[in-house]
Amino acid sequence: MEKESLALHWKILIGLGAGLVVGLALNLVGGSVSGAVGEDGADRWVVDLIVAANGFVGDLFLRALRFIAVPIVMFSLIVGASSLSDLSKLGRIGGKTVVIYLGTTALAISTGLLLANVVQPGHFVSEAVRNQMASQGTAEALAMMESASAPDLWTTLLEIVPRNPARALADGKMLQIVFLSLAIGIGLTRIAPEKSKPIIAFFDGMTDVILQIVHAIMKVAPYAVFCLLVEVLATMGLDVLGALVVYSFVVIGGLAVMMFLVYPAILKFMAGMSPLTFFPAIAPAQLLGFSSSSSSATLPVTLECVEERLGVKEEISSFVVPLGATINMDGTALYQGVAAMFIAQLYGVDLSFGQQLTIVLTATLASIGTAGVPGVGLVMLIIVLQSVGMSPEIMASGIAIIFGVDRLLDMCRTACNVTGDCMVAAVIGATEDRKAQAG
Ligand code: ASP
Repeated sequence: MEKESLALHWKILIGLGAGLVVGLALNLVGGSVSGAVGEDGADRWVVDLIVAANGFVGDLFLRALRFIAVPIVMFSLIVGASSLSDLSKLGRIGGKTVVIYLGTTALAISTGLLLANVVQPGHFVSEAVRNQMASQGTAEALAMMESASAPDLWTTLLEIVPRNPARALADGKMLQIVFLSLAIGIGLTRIAPEKSKPIIAFFDGMTDVILQIVHAIMKVAPYAVFCLLVEVLATMGLDVLGALVVYSFVVIGGLAVMMFLVYPAILKFMAGMSPLTFFPAIAPAQLLGFSSSSSSATLPVTLECVEERLGVKEEISSFVVPLGATINMDGTALYQGVAAMFIAQLYGVDLSFGQQLTIVLTATLASIGTAGVPGVGLVMLIIVLQSVGMSPEIMASGIAIIFGVDRLLDMCRTACNVTGDCMVAAVIGATEDRKAQAG
């Protein structure tokens, strides 16, 4: 049948486009319905019901993804690590991965800062509009500021080693799960083969079982993406978009530079891979990242795309991708650079070159150990603003202003975060393959 021949990413794209149109229509209809009907909003319930039904299906889908994230990482990483015959290889892969992740993150923030310095998005919002927008959401911003606390690098590093493996699994702490799985995988290489073989075969089999679930989930992804988009778009406040259009374009433009210029250049240079191979293979993960605003929830699909569609070996992908979902957030970092400059420009605060360097450092460090869930970038932004000594009043007003477009930008930056993880996995895979061939 002709439908079968349509590639998955096209199907997801169609679901996404349809969800966008329907969600937007519901948003507009919903607004006018409540306006026309007046106090009791008698007709609004139809719109609310449609939105709630779509939200339910979308949540169900995300739950299914989260349900398999921990087992797939654990099982596949145990198998992957158990096939690494020498520990120096693991050290080399780990070192390269962390360096490239942190390097691209710093590059992303610098790109964001550069764009915000050139375009000056803060100067496109008048003082009157600024004050009016700030007055609307300051209470929410203050509550967020209370919950944000600066990351302590040493504690983050210490917490990689779980006190209790069962708790690490139960809480889905990705860095701890990576540690635990590596420890088991490496242990398996050091015991007698007659003992290790059945254990490895068990985890290998379980990985295949979970992959079957991933395949089933991917089949329904086009419909789920439709539902997710309908809910998000229908409930999004579109009125603030006008005032923040230049700011939003700077963020989205910067993300596009990373995704479509920087990553393909690194891929070509370090992995010899064409973007025409890369993008179709990882498109399902990108589109899912965009629709869910969560790189953690997208993780099982990212793993599947990198392993089965890009052909990166399990021993590499099972390590690089889960690590990336936690420590690599290029899109989030770029957004923080732009947002910090935007807020500073709105309030006439001059950020010196040294303060901008502090932003690069703080945002890079803040991204380590922060799980990729919706909206976390905005909380991390508070830490970044604190690091350059911004006053709490300006911070609260600034956060209140950008809050309105945060979900939309979150979707875009999550797609970038996921793309970055896939790019690094492809690069590490290619460089290791080259090394194996040369050796
Ligand atoms: N939602 C993003 C992610 O999951 C993080 C953020 O920027 O808020 O990767």
